[in-house]
This record gives sequence, C-alpha cells and structure tokens, in this order.
Amino acid sequence: RPSAERPTATRVFVVANQKGGVGKTTSTVNIAAGLAQLGQRVLVIDLDPQGNASTALNIDHHRGTPGTYDALVDGAALQDVASPCPDVEGLDVVPATIDLAGAEIELVSVVARESRLKKAILAHPLVGTAEKAGDARYDYVIVDCPPSLGLLTLNALVAGEEMMIPIQAEYYALEGLGLLIETVEMVRAHLNPALSVSTILLTMFDARTRLAAGVASEVREHFGDQVLRTNIPRSVRVSEAPSYAQTVMTYDPGSPGALSYLEAAREITERAVTA
Ligand code: ADP
Ligand code: MG
Repeated sequence: RPSAERPTATRVFVVANQKGGVGKTTSTVNIAAGLAQLGQRVLVIDLDPQGNASTALNIDHHRGTPGTYDALVDGAALQDVASPCPDVEGLDVVPATIDLAGAEIELVSVVARESRLKKAILAHPLVGTAEKAGDARYDYVIVDCPPSLGLLTLNALVAGEEMMIPIQAEYYALEGLGLLIETVEMVRAHLNPALSVSTILLTMFDARTRLAAGVASEVREHFGDQVLRTNIPRSVRVSEAPSYAQTVMTYDPGSPGALSYLEAAREITERAVTA
C-alpha cells in the first residue's frame, strides 16, 4: 500500500469554481479517495444541494438525511452528521440533501451567516494539530462547492485555507475566472486572510487536441506553480463511476483517470510537506 507523509495539522481545502460541469465534484471525490489510498484521513463535506459527491461516495442523501444542512442551519456537530464511506477506508462524508438548497435563503437572517461552516469545522474534535486532535485527526477536509458564488460557497471560502480550482481544458476555460479571483480577494481582505489559491487542476484534458494544450499553457502561464503538474485526462471510466455509486479509484483503479487522480493527490501531499 503506497503512503505519503501526513501533514502536522488538518488542511482544509475548498473546491470551487462558479462554473458548472468543470469537474469540481469529480475532483473532490477522486482526490479524497486518492488521499485515503495514500494513508491520509479525509473528511469530505458536500456543500452542493445536488449531492453529487455524496452519490459518488455511496452515502445516503435522501431528503431529511442529517448532513451539511443541519450543521449550517441548526448548528449540528459535524461528527454527528458524518458517515464513513463504505468503500474507501479512512474517508468520512458529510452528505448534502436537497434541503441545502433552502439554506442559501434561510441563512440570510442568521448571525455570522458566512462563518457557520468555519465554526462547525473548527469545533470538530478531529480537526487541528496532532497535539490537539491526536492520531485519529483528519489530514484533509475537502469541501465540494455548488456552481455559484452564493452564501454556501462564501461559507466554504471563509472556512478554508487552501482553494482548489478545477479548470476544464476547453474553449472558454478562463471565462469567469476573473470574477472568482476577485471574490477570493474580497474574502481575503474582509473575512479570511488565510485563504490562498494553492491548487489549480486541469480536468477533462484531451491530450490529442491542440486546443487542450493551448488552454493548459495559458493556464500555466497565468497561474505558474499553483497548477498541478498532473492533468486529469478525459475518460469515460471517470464519468461512469458515479452511476455505480463509486469513485473511479475503486471502479477502475488501473485506468488513466484513476492513476492521474492518485498522482494529483500525491502532489498535494508533497506540497504539504515542503510548504
Ligand atoms: P462540477 O461539480 O464542476 O459541476 P462534475 O465533477 O460534476 O462538475 O463534472 C461534470 C461532468 O463531467 C460529469 O458528468 C462528470 O462525470 C464529467 N467528468 C468530469 N471529469 C471527467 C473526466 N476526467 N473525464 C470524463 N468525464 C468527466
Ligand atoms: Mg458538482
């Protein structure tokens, strides 16, 4: 079993891009499973009312199932609404139900509405330094955001220290990124100075097309070292996996998509050690 060094304290990652269909959820679940394969302890928080990350990780998320909604709106403890992923050892999940769609409005009148998720994560007994949270601590908390810049995504940006932006290697890839970066700057200035865009991941990369190569070099020129060396190839196996309630890491571990996500996960762990 391959392994990677554990960080000395929990790293909280936010996977965000207000554009839909760029690979946020796919990257969240597969990097989470990849990190778990590398011996890391991981908590995925599904913050998208669609609950696609919950589906891919084989976690029940029918309406009324306790999950992210309860933590954000009712102040439920995350450890009480998380479940272990049945197929991936070391990976726990806080599911999202469609109830979460209402939270965007329900939270408007709540005190400190933009820091509810931060409060919930910090209160988790397994989040923090080795000293505080012990050997069973989470090494990574990964938050899968909805495709918007509303109050749910804002909660994630306030809660996280590192942001991962998946970028689809297609025409218009960079469209909308300006607004996303402006939002990050605003959050950094007013709500969470610790937030950094640490990780850019190129997804659905088709190595045969000149377009993908062009987008990749443009993204690398713009973001430099923030971009992971590993690109995720476009692959049918990756897109099939969720319909079997699986990540591609368990559905077809030897496939190029799974191997790339494992490599991307390893890069992330190496950045932790040298950071
Ligand atoms: P988002 O969460 O940003 O909306 P998803 O992760 O749900 O995006 O991905 C959008 C669609 O693209 C899904 O149908 C997913 O299965 C598919 N997809 C994502 N990554 C890949 C890939 N590497 N190869 C093929 N299909 C992919
Ligand atoms: Mg999604």
